[in-house]
Amino acid sequence: MDLVPLYFRSVISIADVVGNNRCVVCGAAGDVFCQSHFLFFQENTDFSSDKHWWFWYYSSKAREIILDIKKHKQFRVAYRLGQYMGLYLKNTEASQYFQHITYVPHHSKEFKQTMFSMPFLIAMGISDIMEKPIIHLFVKTKTHSQHILSADKRRNNLKNVYNINRKVPKVGGPVLIVDDIVTTGSTLKSLKNLAVGYGIKKLYTITLARTPKWSDVI
Ligand SMILES: [Zn+2]
Repeated sequence: MDLVPLYFRSVISIADVVGNNRCVVCGAAGDVFCQSHFLFFQENTDFSSDKHWWFWYYSSKAREIILDIKKHKQFRVAYRLGQYMGLYLKNTEASQYFQHITYVPHHSKEFKQTMFSMPFLIAMGISDIMEKPIIHLFVKTKTHSQHILSADKRRNNLKNVYNINRKVPKVGGPVLIVDDIVTTGSTLKSLKNLAVGYGIKKLYTITLARTPKWSDVI
């Protein structure tokens, strides 16, 4: 696991130098967002500080962008989006809320196949901007196919899918859990329960996007 951040950082640096960097919305050469589409990012931001923060509704353009990042393993874009989220958080009182950042992990087998993790890349971006460390708090111990299951089945299916990574030194302070898309919220909810059981008293969650059907189960 220790080599993963290093690997991600190398790929991002290479993409910064030799990448064909374009606005994810209109394709104009430059950064992840051109000036006018940075407004698109901001205007489509829904932000609530009580329990859960998210940015986009997972529909139309946002959906297209996220699918493209995953399909083409756009390390730099995922990381830069995390940085934008970090900048956003930094401008709110949110920065006081948490001390550590963690992410929804892939199963090691899944990760070895793709060598890509959008939640981790977003977490890296947030961490760099907010200057709060990432901890590898969770491990995924089972592979499963979430998206084909109904909400009830998803909840059952999640039992024992994730666990606390016991190799990580115990932290007591508030932790921010990062994911790319929240659908039913059942994954985040199960991770929160694990962390609370481990003695972490306060948890916040943030996702790049939420599906329109998402209900307040967190
Ligand atoms: Zn643009």
